[in-house]
Amino acid sequence: MVEKLTENNKTYYICEECSFAYKDKKTALKCEAWCRKYKSCNVEITKHAVKI
Ligand SMILES: [Zn+2]
Repeated sequence: MVEKLTENNKTYYICEECSFAYKDKKTALKCEAWCRKYKSCNVEITKHAVKI
């Protein structure tokens, strides 16, 4: 499950598989589904990741 994290009053969603953070839950869920299925990251998804 995507983990919700609040840092400096901003909410992030963390992919449980690769630990990338996203501002958007939909993207985090997409990432997690991809990571779980293919055991790798999709650049098209991870480019939306943000640094915390
Ligand atoms: Zn991921």
